[in-house]
Amino acid sequence: MDNTWASHIRFKPLEHGVDVVVQATTKYEGGYGDTPSGIVIAKHPEDMQIIADELRATGNGAVAPTTCSRLYHRIDSTEERLNQHADNAQRLIDWFLKQPFVTDVLSPTLETSPYHERFERYFKKGNCLFSIVLRSDLSAKHVEAFVDALNLFWVAESWGGHLSLVLPVHAKREVAPLPAGYVLRFHAGLEDYQDLLRDLSQATRCLCK
Ligand SMILES: *Cc1c(COP(=O)(O)O)cnc(C)c1O
Repeated sequence: MDNTWASHIRFKPLEHGVDVVVQATTKYEGGYGDTPSGIVIAKHPEDMQIIADELRATGNGAVAPTTCSRLYHRIDSTEERLNQHADNAQRLIDWFLKQPFVTDVLSPTLETSPYHERFERYFKKGNCLFSIVLRSDLSAKHVEAFVDALNLFWVAESWGGHLSLVLPVHAKREVAPLPAGYVLRFHAGLEDYQDLLRDLSQATRCLCK
């Protein structure tokens, strides 16, 4: 199982019958976008041996000493940071739900999510990530202008750091129909949420006709 979304704070896969877990520590454990790394955990030593042999043969799995040092010093604050990310994300979600240009907010923390029951059962508290679906009459030009007008949200993929991010996504889902409008994925960082809300508010001028 890939446990990156929940991290070791929200979910302990071995306690739920999972044998092998991978987790990117690039995200919350590092917390500042400067720790490209990951961990592999196996329940059975035989599995761990196979994985270790494989990684040695391919040359993967070597993490820079500076990265290990950063992780060593930051891992203990993962829970505090993750909770702050989740609180900030929820404040942004609440704001987006009230905006006329948003037709849907995608997050398992919301009761309207088809994944909410599973979320409640296994994770209980959210993380930094959510997506918004924009009204389908908004053009790519509007959406790009909105993203460009944001000052506090960086356009980047790898989430989990202290800075907030926004990323236009091209959802490919086979089990559920695709939303009609453009989708933006947000990562809520550790900034003051009022600054983030002010920044989002000023950028909405770009969504007017
Ligand atoms: C980011 C991510 C990874 C890989 O992390 P990197 O260290 O950035 O390559 C793996 N799985 C999931 C679910 C992720 O979000």
